[in-house]
Amino acid sequence: MTPSHTRSDALFARARQVTPSGVNSPVRAFGSVGGTPPFLTGASGALLHDADGIEYVDLVGSWGPMILGHAHPPVVEAVREAAGHGLSFGAPQPGEVSLAEEVVDRIGPVEQLRLVNSGTEATMSALRVARAATGRDVVVKFAGCYHGHVDALLAEAGSGVATFAMPGSAGVTAATARDTVVLPYGDREAVTALLAERGGEIAAIITEAAPANMGVITPPEEDGIGFNRFLAESAHAAGALLISDEVLTGFRASRAGHYGIDGAGWAPDLMTFGKVIGGGLPVGAFGGRADLMGLLAPAGPVYQAGTLSGNPLATAAGLATFAGLDEAAYATLGSASTALQQMVAEALTTAGVPHVIQTAGTLFSVFFRSEPVRTYQDAKAQDTAAFTRFFHAMAEGGVYLPPSAFEAWFVSTAHTPEVLDRIAAALPGAARAAAQG
Ligand SMILES: *Cc1c(COP(=O)(O)O)cnc(C)c1O
Repeated sequence: MTPSHTRSDALFARARQVTPSGVNSPVRAFGSVGGTPPFLTGASGALLHDADGIEYVDLVGSWGPMILGHAHPPVVEAVREAAGHGLSFGAPQPGEVSLAEEVVDRIGPVEQLRLVNSGTEATMSALRVARAATGRDVVVKFAGCYHGHVDALLAEAGSGVATFAMPGSAGVTAATARDTVVLPYGDREAVTALLAERGGEIAAIITEAAPANMGVITPPEEDGIGFNRFLAESAHAAGALLISDEVLTGFRASRAGHYGIDGAGWAPDLMTFGKVIGGGLPVGAFGGRADLMGLLAPAGPVYQAGTLSGNPLATAAGLATFAGLDEAAYATLGSASTALQQMVAEALTTAGVPHVIQTAGTLFSVFFRSEPVRTYQDAKAQDTAAFTRFFHAMAEGGVYLPPSAFEAWFVSTAHTPEVLDRIAAALPGAARAAAQG
C-alpha cells in the first residue's frame, strides 16, 4: 500500500500560497522528479520523519552538514548549552576563535579564516578579495560547478541550476556576465589557451575541489599532475589566484577535505567552506594566505561584514561536529560509503540499468549512463527519466534520495550496517523500476 501524503500535500498547498513554488531553495520543490516533497518534522541519526508519520532512511543529510547524523546528542547538547548563554552578541566570542583554529589546524593553506553565514557568502567574499588583490575583474569558472547563488558564478552552474536545466539566472547584469568566463571542467588546453590570450585580465580561477554539484567527478590526473595542482600553477603563472571551493567537500572527502586527498606540492590561495563546518546551523567560511586575508576591513580596503557572522550557537554546532570527526569517524564514513556503492551497483547491474558510480573520498554519486562522466555535458547526457523512476521507487521503499540526478548522495556516521540493510531492501525494486522505461 502506498502511504498517504495528505498532511504534506496540505502543507505544500499552503506553502505555495505564501512562498514561491512553496520552498526556500529550488531543488526542494521536487520540480524535476515530480510529486509532493515530504514536509519533515523530525530526524534522528540516519532517519527522517515526515508530517504524515512516514519514516525514511536519509541520503541527503541536509546536503552535507549532517555528517554525524541528525540530532547527534553531543551537537544538540552543545547548541542547547550555548543557547542558555545568549543567542547572538554581534561581538567577538570564544567559539569563533576555536572554530577558526580547528580549520587552520586541519588545512595547511588556510592561515586565516573569516566566518560568514553560508557558502554563497563565502565564495562571494573570496572573489572580492581576489579581485582586490589582483586589481583584475575576470573570474574563470567551470561548467557544472556550483558556487552558491553569487551573480558572477551562476553561469552554467550545477546543483539546482543544473537540475532545472537553466543556462544561468535571469537578473544577472550583462556587465557581470561579461566578467565571468566558463570553461569545460578538466579541459587543460582550454585553460592554457584562455590564460595565454587574456591572462592579464583574470583575477581568479574558481573550482570545486572535486565537482560534486553535477554529480561527483574525480579531478583528472595527467602525467601525475592533478587538475587542481594544474590550475594553481596555471593561475599563478598568469598572476591570478586559485580559489578552491570546499563548501561541499570540506571535512567530508577527508579530515582535511579534498585538499587532504590531492594537496601535495601545491596550494590554493583562497578556500571556501560551508555545510559540515556549521554542523547543520548556518555557517560558511573563507580563508587562505594571511597576506590576502589581511586585505579585509578593518585593516584592509575590502569590505565584508555580517550581523550574525560567528554566531555562538553556530560555532558551538560546528565545534561539536569537528569534535566527532576523528579518524574513526572517517573510517566509518568510508566503509558506509563503499558498502552503499557496492549494493547500488549490484542492484542496478542485476536489473540491467546503465550506471556509473564516481567518488571523491567518501563522497559519491550515481550517474544513470554507462560512460564515465568527466564534464557537465557528460552529466547532462544521463537518463534522468530512469533516475526519476528509481527515485520514486526508493521513496516508496522508505529511502530519501536527493531529488535530482545531479547531486551527490550523503552518508553519515549514523549509517550503520542495520540502516544500510534497509536501503539494500529497497534497491532491487527501485532498480527494476528504473529499468522499465
Ligand atoms: C552548497 C554549495 C555552495 C553554496 O553554499 P550555501 O550555503 O548553499 O550558500 C557553494 N559551493 C559549493 C561547492 C556548494 O556545494
